[in-house]
Amino acid sequence: MSSGDRSSTGNVWIDTFNELIDEELDYTDRWSLNFNYKITDTLSREKKKEGWKISSRHVYASFCCSKCHHQWNSARVLVIFHYRLREKTERGHVIMRPFRQVCDACKSNGEHYEIPRFSEDKVEEILLGLLSKIKKNCYGEDYLDDGIDSSRSKVYRTKPHKSSLCEACRDGICCQDDYKDD
Ligand SMILES: [Zn+2]
Ligand SMILES: [Zn+2]
Repeated sequence: MSSGDRSSTGNVWIDTFNELIDEELDYTDRWSLNFNYKITDTLSREKKKEGWKISSRHVYASFCCSKCHHQWNSARVLVIFHYRLREKTERGHVIMRPFRQVCDACKSNGEHYEIPRFSEDKVEEILLGLLSKIKKNCYGEDYLDDGIDSSRSKVYRTKPHKSSLCEACRDGICCQDDYKDD
């Protein structure tokens, strides 16, 4: 490995994103990924005019309560991305929001939302899906739907989704199609 200029941020999402942009995208635009826990599954008219697009999907993730250390898994963790390419400045921006869940064991002590944890494989799979969208919607590349999302990904068995514990359900945007584009 000779890539001495690739600085690691310690965040698996941002590090994996930077690596995949390097490896998968044949353009000189500089892309960045940031988190924002306030974005939703809709774009205002202004945002759309500015070129923002949305991709969202439900994925498998695990949780560990920071208070009582109760652990659980969920196959229905909503992740939303807003993304756009600004051709003038040759910069691409991605904003992501993973939706949190309330610990079932602590919920009587007030709602305490925990951030989901994803395996590195899962992070890469999700970001590769996002890159396909970026290639298609920002660069006009043909998008070959090779069925990654349905056939190749594992089917995880978890307990039934409890809407009362899910931040996306609280916001009324959870129970939609598993894969959505705008
Ligand atoms: Zn707890
Ligand atoms: Zn939900």
